[in-house]
Amino acid sequence: MVEPFRTPVVTGWAPRHPADPARSGWSLWRLPRPALALVLGVELVAAAVVVGGAGPVTWAAAAQAALICLLSLAHTELSTGIERIRGRSGGPSSPDLGSVWTFAAAALLPPALIAAVIAIVSLHRWQRVQRPAGVLPHRHAYTTATTVLAAVAAHAVVGGAVPTAADDPAGVAAIGAAVLIYLAVTTALVTAATALSHARPVLRELTTHRDDSTVELAALCMGALAAVALASTPGLVVLVLPPILVLHRAVLVRQLEQAATTDAKTGLLTATAWRARAERVVRRVRRQHGAAAVLILDLDHFKTVNDEHGHLAGDGVLAAVAAELRAGVREEDVVGRFGGEEFLVLLPELPAGEGGRVELGRVAERLRGRIAELRVPVPDGTAITGLTVSVGGATLPADGTDLDQVLRAADASLYAAKHDGRNLVRIAGPPDVPSPRRPLL
Ligand code: GH3
Ligand code: MG
Ligand code: MG
Repeated sequence: MVEPFRTPVVTGWAPRHPADPARSGWSLWRLPRPALALVLGVELVAAAVVVGGAGPVTWAAAAQAALICLLSLAHTELSTGIERIRGRSGGPSSPDLGSVWTFAAAALLPPALIAAVIAIVSLHRWQRVQRPAGVLPHRHAYTTATTVLAAVAAHAVVGGAVPTAADDPAGVAAIGAAVLIYLAVTTALVTAATALSHARPVLRELTTHRDDSTVELAALCMGALAAVALASTPGLVVLVLPPILVLHRAVLVRQLEQAATTDAKTGLLTATAWRARAERVVRRVRRQHGAAAVLILDLDHFKTVNDEHGHLAGDGVLAAVAAELRAGVREEDVVGRFGGEEFLVLLPELPAGEGGRVELGRVAERLRGRIAELRVPVPDGTAITGLTVSVGGATLPADGTDLDQVLRAADASLYAAKHDGRNLVRIAGPPDVPSPRRPLL
């Protein structure tokens, strides 16, 4: 999976295992050259912008900056509980709610004070949220640099003229445009760094999740309102704090959704989530008059694994099998845990007709072979080997026109595989194309 190159100033993405060697590839000097060039380039430009923006500030602007910083500090302190939940579940990247305060600063303050506000907000976040969560410093530095550039771009659009008069359509349009510019700059720079950091980035994973973009946009809108409040009736800006704290909880929604659809032991989709996803895929396949297939896999004599090695070792086997299944099929194939020691795979975009059945048999044999070669280490230093699986398959539209029919046909094939001796693949349809019995052990 492509790791997003983002450690939002407020809701910093926290690696689940800060000391995980897999993460060490993220250390600055191990980044691919183009990514390193982008990161250093953005940081240099941000530093130059900060130095170039130094200039005299008024007491009134300094007071506004101080109020923005105070509110940001309060926001961070009051949202540490939410951050702890995020850190525990090691969730995906999430939107930058600190942009409420940095955007308000960008719209309202001169460049020197914008930089000061970002520096204070960013340092405080680093200290209270990101460092404890194990975020790498260079990621935080990059996010801060993108914030500086986004803020400077937004400042240039608003031109310091935050609307305060009752009738100021130009001011309203300018602050609306500044919101969009801010969002565009941060999104573009984070996406570019993520893309350049991966040899083969997946487009779907590069694009920001829709929920995240919505929350990020909402935070920026609150920032715009905060700027208008500060420019007209500064005391009103305090009213921004409660809604932003409620909005902050919204960053948990995606994580909760993910937890609800993910089987805890295997990391695969739960049966319910698999069905929902599979129904959608099947509808699409039918609309396009294409073909799809379902495999049901059931570990053979799994009870004896539990009996011989214990249930925890059994859980380890389930996780290892799940990883093998995921690795053994294409990105677009949908893998889930049916229940117990049974797994499901939906394969869309199969060739139509007999070609599809043959292809399905090949995939099923490949999966059976991968599982047969598994070695699952157990705490006593040995490993569980000799695992076998029986597989039943069926195709759509040949064996059914809806998911339930195809599942029933695949289940019947699975029973046939068990009945015929286990460690076998059986595909529904004419008996002349069954997968040959090729015991691997
Ligand atoms: P068969 O070849 O007929 O499928 O035999 P089997 O032993 O695999 O099937 P059976 O249905 O008799 O037993 C399934 C076993 O799977 C029994 C149950 O303890 C075990 N099991 C189900 N869920 C879990 C789980 O989450 N963790 C562990 N460790 N075992 C599980
Ligand atoms: Mg079973
Ligand atoms: Mg079984």
